Amino acid sequence: MQDAFDQQHIWHPYTSMTQPLPCYKVKAAHGAVIELEDGTELIDGMSSWWCTIHGYNHSELNQAVTKQLESMSHIMFGGLTHQPAIDVSKLLLEITAPELDKIFFADSGSVAVEVALKMAVQYWHARQQPQKTNFVTTRSGYHGDTWNAMSVCDPVTGMHQIFGSSLPNRLFVPAPQSRFDGAWQPEDIQPLERILALQHQQIAAMIIEPIVQGAGGMRFYHPEYLKQAKLLCEKYDVLLILDEIATGFGRTGKLFAYEHAQVTPDIMCIGKALTGGYMTLSATLTTRHVAETISSGEAGVFMHGPTFMANPLACAVALKSTQLLLAQDWQTRIQQIESTLEQYLLDLKSLAQVKDVRVLGAIGVVELHQTIDLARFQAECVCRGVWIRPFGRLVYVMPPYVISTQQLETLLKHMREMIQQIEAVA
Ligand code: PMP
Repeated sequence: MQDAFDQQHIWHPYTSMTQPLPCYKVKAAHGAVIELEDGTELIDGMSSWWCTIHGYNHSELNQAVTKQLESMSHIMFGGLTHQPAIDVSKLLLEITAPELDKIFFADSGSVAVEVALKMAVQYWHARQQPQKTNFVTTRSGYHGDTWNAMSVCDPVTGMHQIFGSSLPNRLFVPAPQSRFDGAWQPEDIQPLERILALQHQQIAAMIIEPIVQGAGGMRFYHPEYLKQAKLLCEKYDVLLILDEIATGFGRTGKLFAYEHAQVTPDIMCIGKALTGGYMTLSATLTTRHVAETISSGEAGVFMHGPTFMANPLACAVALKSTQLLLAQDWQTRIQQIESTLEQYLLDLKSLAQVKDVRVLGAIGVVELHQTIDLARFQAECVCRGVWIRPFGRLVYVMPPYVISTQQLETLLKHMREMIQQIEAVA
């Protein structure tokens, strides 16, 4: 099953090169099924990390790429433009908050975050406040693996602890404690108010994942936190950056998670499901005011321009993926997935080894008291014909929206059994 060359030479995400965790070789994937080289079929619970909302090997998405390939796969974006970029931009600006009026394409979520942070700094520079260069964020957040993105991740759970003092020093407030499904606790917002009151003159922006804190802990917080944060950002003249990279495109039951709080960001990042998981593409959207202010500043331009900016293949498939989503009754689909997740997962809360269970939209999370033995858990997944990749103490699923009810039930039945089998430590 293991490929010897792969094991010896190819680095996988967050993996050792001397003791790599097992890696299963995939031959093909279609719909919600991943097919391994030996013919084993796995029901996918991960959507390849939030991306493949329409499933793998989708005929219309394939066609969008193939058609684009016939005219051009790539063209530089400096001084040139193309229809796929124009069409997908129109659609994205149409479906996001009306205040968001400008779009900047990049090639991964982390870079979209870098772009957002740079926009905020350039904005204040142009407003003659060049000292506003720092960022405030909450604990338990996650925004990517590049340098500045790392600096705004949770210093402990955000996976970048080891870089410690080499990262720029950001301002952190405690993670929101009011749960999405619980009561709002007004004291939750006080640390943010205190830090903004004291340090707003140094702060360019607040960055936060709306409603769902993903890789930093899979936590779902109360929409009121976001509402209050927005008001405070306005009060203290600080921009609000929303990182919708994981939550965008219906995953939480709303097209974008900020809609749960009816809050409009000044800058917003999208990625992952933007192309239905076909290619890497991200975008940073902003308001006319931010864009015009940046453009009126000393530089006169926004100082960023990736080589693969607005790659035509990626734009073409992003357009088709977004059209496919909007053309279906995705709200009902997500609600169905949500109620099946609730039905299969919520009562696991009574197990001694389970600390908490959370379900929102098409995301189901079981938090254990102890760290999961990843290699063992994955081997068992493969034996059972499912694909779930836990991290730390979290076993979670966010399946492709095309998963059938029967596939979802099989996936969750195995997830339940595997969690039931984990022994509680006294
Ligand atoms: N922001 C969030 C909220 C994410 O979940 C991720 C990826 N897990 C990123 C940013 C970084 O995206 P990428 O891995 O595409 O660089």
